[in-house]
Amino acid sequence: MARFQTIDAYAPGDGQLSLLPLRFERLSAGRVVVANAVGDLLVLSQAELDRLVALALRPGDGLYERATERLLVAREGAKAPLQLLALRLRSRMAFLRDATALHILVVTLRCEHSCPYCQVSRRNTGAERYDMSEETALLALEVAMDSPSKAIKVEFQGGEPLLNFPLIRFAVEAAERMATVRGKVVEFVIATNLALLDDEILTFCRDHHIHLSTSLDGPADLHNRNRPRPGGNSHALAVAGIQRVQEVLGRDRVGALMTTTDASLDRVEEIIDEYVGLGLDGVFLRPLSPYGFAMKTRWYDGYDSDRWLAFYERGLRHILDLNHRGIRFPEFYASLLLQRILTDQPIGYVDLRSPAGIGIGALVYNYDGKVFASDEGRMLAEMGDRTFELGKLGETDYASLVTSERLIDLVGGTLSQTSPECATCAYEAHCGADPVYHHATQGDAVGIKPLSGFCARQKGILRLLLEILDRGGKDAAVLRSWVSR
Ligand code: SF4
Repeated sequence: MARFQTIDAYAPGDGQLSLLPLRFERLSAGRVVVANAVGDLLVLSQAELDRLVALALRPGDGLYERATERLLVAREGAKAPLQLLALRLRSRMAFLRDATALHILVVTLRCEHSCPYCQVSRRNTGAERYDMSEETALLALEVAMDSPSKAIKVEFQGGEPLLNFPLIRFAVEAAERMATVRGKVVEFVIATNLALLDDEILTFCRDHHIHLSTSLDGPADLHNRNRPRPGGNSHALAVAGIQRVQEVLGRDRVGALMTTTDASLDRVEEIIDEYVGLGLDGVFLRPLSPYGFAMKTRWYDGYDSDRWLAFYERGLRHILDLNHRGIRFPEFYASLLLQRILTDQPIGYVDLRSPAGIGIGALVYNYDGKVFASDEGRMLAEMGDRTFELGKLGETDYASLVTSERLIDLVGGTLSQTSPECATCAYEAHCGADPVYHHATQGDAVGIKPLSGFCARQKGILRLLLEILDRGGKDAAVLRSWVSR
């Protein structure tokens, strides 16, 4: 008796072909990207799209095989493709099983820089009432440790957090004790401009495995223009700080973020080269956000989405060229999106999720004990808008915060699967919601996407990445190499 079935047993059944749920978006040069219900993408010509939607496909014609493999078509009545889609959706939404892992403590709102684009509305170094107390820090850590998540990340934000370093020391030691008692793993990040870094702080960071995240906007003249401080030496101190951390803690213990201002737009290559020269492991090309002084000084209005996308595209081109010359150097936002496009692995980035990660992915404990659903939410509160405030430490606990009516309302409104425009967008499975941005710019957490800068940037970047992948060759190979599997 034959041990295997004959080849005919594997031929498609006789049922009629039918379309599974799909969406499409036009790329350039007559190409079209088609997405299935879980975001598997297939780039086709217009003629192929016409054949696909007319179901003019036959086994062996190539398009039939590609469309079947991408779960865009199935034989009527076939259960397996639907079951497979359901399983894939469950994998992609697995992040919903996790409790809040990221806990941000705003240890002070004071800062010795006076950046015109400051999004947190910083206070002067001598200002009173803007430092977190030990009592508030302990209450914040209690809430953080009550999260069922086994791995807790505590991030210290400001202002400039190192202006309140004694509180960071206190909070790190307290968090380590609490984590040991509760059987959790805790890691720490300090978001700092590094200007106040000294040997004592470095030694403490080394002993407690603390990661440092800093700001670097590019070469000295550009960075110092964007980030003024007394002495005009922000760039020199940031560079010296990065090098000291690399030396003492190791290269992987410091990362940097840049913010794009109108003065950056013509200088993307120089900005990237500055990162490469310092041995940083990649760059995150970031636009300005509509909060704090960036709005008051109108720096936020310095460029629109089209100009920023042109900056981004030039930057990505330069980064690809560096990679072709043997320098492994990713653009981090592209890497995150590629991870979403090319794998089913959930990513830790709370802004690229549906529903959004507000509250369920991250909680923010302000210096004054107020708890917010996101870092941008507390920035908005400094501008007088408390929409994303969830409660006050001492009057609430983790369970009450994440099940509060306010958070449920806010999170419920961030499902891109059901949002106008997003629900029919080919990029939906790889995008996010950014409710705070839309609330700040349009007065509505869902927002009208055709008017949204966030949406324009998402579509622009995703289109760019897909066109590179579609062309194939060495550029596509570099993009694929940035994805961890
Ligand atoms: S925000 Fe824009 S790009 Fe993102 S899913 Fe919605 S419509 Fe698509």
